[in-house]
Amino acid sequence: MSSMKVTLLAHTPDPERVAAAAARQCYSKHSATKAYNDLSAEEMKRLLKMVISSGHLSVLEHASFTFVIEGISRACSHQLVRHRIASYSQQSQRYVKFDEIEFILPESISKQAEAQKAFAEGLDACREAYRRLLSMGIPTEDARYILPQASPTKIVVTMNARSLMNFFELRCCLRAQWEIRELAGQMLNLVKGVAPAIFENSGPACITKRICPEKRYDCPLWVELYKK
Ligand SMILES: Cc1cc2nc3c(=O)[nH]c(=O)nc-3n(C[C@H](O)[C@H](O)[C@H](O)COP(=O)(O)OP(=O)(O)OC[C@H]3O[C@@H](n4cnc5c(N)ncnc54)[C@H](O)[C@@H]3O)c2cc1C
Repeated sequence: MSSMKVTLLAHTPDPERVAAAAARQCYSKHSATKAYNDLSAEEMKRLLKMVISSGHLSVLEHASFTFVIEGISRACSHQLVRHRIASYSQQSQRYVKFDEIEFILPESISKQAEAQKAFAEGLDACREAYRRLLSMGIPTEDARYILPQASPTKIVVTMNARSLMNFFELRCCLRAQWEIRELAGQMLNLVKGVAPAIFENSGPACITKRICPEKRYDCPLWVELYKK
């Protein structure tokens, strides 16, 4: 079961205006400051629509968003940090001792009593071995080697709008693993709340680019979108 909590901690003040002013700078002899102060809401939306649809996405890099993510597994955070165009600060297993560990339980396991039993037994053994190693004076940084991928973690992530779009294309995909898909979905909802003109059409590549990077044309979402 997921105890995921995602918070949008901070973002560029007026991210849409900043990106739109940067876009205007490219095509104007005036300063971006003027555009930032003078652009109407309609003009801003028009500019953003133009740059996004033409692939002039570098202007979106001026808007950044910082999230606090709690209660995801180490398996999920490992997938997350593969996204290199971002900044991360993750809770350290070297320095933080885990007294009570609530492991992340995938639904596929929780749905089957036998699987849940096997999972719980394995995790209890890890938990117990971790405690024993610490009680023997083994440093936390070495005792952690026994902790499983189901271990929960907390991580602060900052991504710019362009990198977020790429993240959403890959991780909102129906074929992405449930945990990172849930994470991406929550992050998308949060940024849509503060920058709708940038993110209104963000999502998996089948929606944004009408392509399936995995060429899985039997995917229910692809079928729903294009085969009906
Ligand atoms: C379906 C799926 C399966 C995957 N399976 C595996 C797997 O089996 N093993 C595995 O290791 N990873 C796997 N990954 C992770 C994947 O390879 C990427 O590391 C991850 O999705 C981050 O994507 P990204 O590189 O686009 O993002 P970022 O790292 O944020 O990069 C964003 C963009 O910047 C550009 N870029 C970044 N760095 C470079 C660079 N060094 N050179 C050139 N261009 C660059 C690229 O255009 C890239 O798309 C998988 C991802 C998906 C979605």
